[in-house]
Amino acid sequence: MPHDIFLATAVSPALELLLAERFTLYRDAPPPTTKAIVGGGQMTVDAALLDRLPELEIIAIHGVGHDGIDHDAVAARGIRIAITADVLTEDVADQAIALWLAVDRRIAANDRAMRMGNWTVPLGRRASGRRIGIFGLGRIGQAIAKRAEPFGGEILYTARSEKAVAWRFVPDLATLAAESDVLFLAAPGGEETRGVVDAGVLDRLGADGVLVNVARGSLVEEDALIAALESHRIAGAGLDVFADEPDVPYALRRMNHVVLAPHQGSATREGRAAMAELVVANLDAHFAGLAVPGLLG
Ligand code: NAP
Repeated sequence: MPHDIFLATAVSPALELLLAERFTLYRDAPPPTTKAIVGGGQMTVDAALLDRLPELEIIAIHGVGHDGIDHDAVAARGIRIAITADVLTEDVADQAIALWLAVDRRIAANDRAMRMGNWTVPLGRRASGRRIGIFGLGRIGQAIAKRAEPFGGEILYTARSEKAVAWRFVPDLATLAAESDVLFLAAPGGEETRGVVDAGVLDRLGADGVLVNVARGSLVEEDALIAALESHRIAGAGLDVFADEPDVPYALRRMNHVVLAPHQGSATREGRAAMAELVVANLDAHFAGLAVPGLLG
């Protein structure tokens, strides 16, 4: 008998096909016999849902974020969590660098201008030699740092602990913002980081500073960001993630010094195929009693 699997969010057709070959899938009402939940990095799994699924063994995330999961409730029930780490890291870092360059070199704004028939546009800002600040130096943060190195500026970061790397550690986000020209966010969402980028942090980043967020919208106080951008207290922003996706405030959409992407960090054909395969590999290994490659923790 194939195991029952609850699809908590929409997943790619390729993944759905792979899952349907192996399991019985439920999209709305998961039966109490559900053995696994599959969903994207922003899915919510709370204690109320877990109470309805006494046979649940594993939550297989199609992504690396797990801020929507009640970790205490999951741990109390001995349920495993698996993510698709590593296979999306490089794509998300590429997206972060692309957003930075799109803001500083006005790629999106100039494209819009040309489509309107304009040739004369304002100057952009030099990318090389910039001080690059990275909030969260995990897989994605490190991949961003490696990509930023050839631009020849200083690279600094903060995380919960200092790492054995050549880049300069600073103790907190406020210091990082004050000492950076470009501030990349690459830390997890969740309560610990909610709203950490507030008006004070943005003011420290300053009128020449650019914010790039490929982490989670929840890290940024969006109203404070809009206010800082509208009053040019920061120079621009490249945003892949938002507070209330897929709703993006009109204020962000109308500003030319903001570059927007609809949560595309891992959205490459190659990355999504690898993520789908890893979700399935995680489930197959779990149900076969083998080591689960993407096991969290
Ligand atoms: P990771 O390897 O777990 O790295 C997370 C980093 O954030 C670690 O360096 C960690 O510090 C740091 N961190 C955690 N909590 C922190 C806090 N309270 N204050 C400061 N730093 C903190 O994760 P990853 O694979 O790089 O992914 C990072 C995040 O990117 C994910 O959680 C997800 O939300 C987001 N993401 C977005 C997309 C997208 O499509 N835009 C795709 C994938 C992931 P320590 O090492 O010191 O613990």
